[in-house]
Amino acid sequence: MSPLNYLRPKTMAEAMEQLQSGVALAGGTGLTPRRAQIETVVDISDLGLDKITKIQKIFQIGAGTSLQAILGNVEVPAALRQACVLEAGWNMRNMATLGGTIMEADGRSAMLTILLALDAEIAREPEGDLIPIERFLSVRDKITLITQIRFEEPRKLLYEQVARTPLDFPIVCVSLVEADESSRTLRLAIGGYGMRPLRLPDLKKFVRKGANIDEIVHRAQGAYENAGDEWASAEYRSAVAGILVRRLLEEGTAE
Ligand SMILES: Cc1cc2nc3c(=O)[nH]c(=O)nc-3n(C[C@H](O)[C@H](O)[C@H](O)COP(=O)(O)OP(=O)(O)OC[C@H]3O[C@@H](n4cnc5c(N)ncnc54)[C@H](O)[C@@H]3O)c2cc1C
Repeated sequence: MSPLNYLRPKTMAEAMEQLQSGVALAGGTGLTPRRAQIETVVDISDLGLDKITKIQKIFQIGAGTSLQAILGNVEVPAALRQACVLEAGWNMRNMATLGGTIMEADGRSAMLTILLALDAEIAREPEGDLIPIERFLSVRDKITLITQIRFEEPRKLLYEQVARTPLDFPIVCVSLVEADESSRTLRLAIGGYGMRPLRLPDLKKFVRKGANIDEIVHRAQGAYENAGDEWASAEYRSAVAGILVRRLLEEGTAE
């Protein structure tokens, strides 16, 4: 194994230059097992990316914020804090960051499922732009640096999962967001399988009258009709996805 080049930039400009020949190092919990393939790491911990702020209704969470710090911030929506517990145990949560987590997460990630339902946006460098999480997931392997994750405070945020044990990664999970009072848009994401969670089409809150809950349940079942792997059969996942979506829609549309 070659010696590791460790760099620790103090400014974003320095980081951008160094990241041309190295990989971002946040908590290191995902990178460490791949140490043998890495020559240069760029430690991002001096870039001030570990702040959680809420300006008006917009949450901004620095990509370098540890999962434990998110869990400990009582302003952050409860389901997102709970997702930190589902991502990692206490030791790992103190090191692992939100940025590192969403760079590594697959379909079995509670965090990614919730951020998808929240319609989060990802701030990245060197582009200096803000991209929707859906787009982030399609360009993830080309990202140089995430600086921040932003989302609007939802009126309601719900999450449920079925797993082998309460703290295990989900076999199926669903998150439902009611956006805000004015738009009353409902957003649903399902996870528990594959490379990434999925978004179901947005709905308006009129589903509370029951008219199209069945249709949405059917879509959720359809999304997982081929989702079989070593953890569960496709039939099981599809049935559970339908049950969880119905449960959250009934809960989420109750006043
Ligand atoms: C025992 C163990 C079990 C694990 N189990 C799982 C698991 O089941 N599921 C899972 O998804 N992960 C798992 N991991 C991987 C890892 O712990 C998590 O994904 C973790 O949240 C990564 O966060 P980190 O801050 O430590 O990232 P790091 O290890 O520092 O980085 C992880 C990756 O993200 C990149 N990165 C980090 N921050 C940024 C940023 N701000 N901008 C751009 N790129 C960035 C790094 O370059 C690297 O490629 C496990 C790790 C260990 C040690």
